[in-house]
Amino acid sequence: MATTVCGWCGINAHMAMVTDVTQVPKREGFGYAYMAAFRCSNELCQRLVVGRVFRGTNYTSPKREMAEDLEIQWEPAQVRRPHFPDVPPQIGATASEAHACLSIGAHRGAVALARAVVEATAKFHGITSGALVSKIDRMHEAGLIREITREVAHEIRQGGNEIAHGDLADEPMPAEDAEAIVEFMDAILQEVFQGPARMKDLQRRRQERKERNSEQG
Ligand SMILES: [Zn+2]
Repeated sequence: MATTVCGWCGINAHMAMVTDVTQVPKREGFGYAYMAAFRCSNELCQRLVVGRVFRGTNYTSPKREMAEDLEIQWEPAQVRRPHFPDVPPQIGATASEAHACLSIGAHRGAVALARAVVEATAKFHGITSGALVSKIDRMHEAGLIREITREVAHEIRQGGNEIAHGDLADEPMPAEDAEAIVEFMDAILQEVFQGPARMKDLQRRRQERKERNSEQG
């Protein structure tokens, strides 16, 4: 049974095949290519998505086999756009776009935006000169990020697909590396903005309680 996160409504839903399976001209490296339209089973959505499958062997019973196929790729794909509360709006919006790129396999785009987010985070705290890795070092010196985060930045850098490398168009960018760099960006935002905001909120609520108590007492 075909189930996926619907690219329209974002809900994990069963996709019911609503057309016949169409065989389309093969793509290089794949013997057979099939497409069919499906309908999202979320009652509030019910929109159509296109499923496609590339495979080495042909289907003998296309409709049944495609409905059971676990390798279906979906169009539209689900685009992730997480919200970053407590992060300055422009930086948060850019971070959200980095995730959107990652979710559609635009790995270089994701990495370019993740780098821009880390740069902007440093700049927000007055760190404007030097290479990105030295900015990360200085964010650590300023007490904005933990030692382990600084170490990870250097490890990502040594791993080849560095967070601070300039020649994005010149190098391969496997999904794994892009995911690691976006995850690193998330960690930076968490440490620099979101974590402290949560602590300030906790502090404010404690303060309010104290004031209430002293009024009552
Ligand atoms: Zn849907």
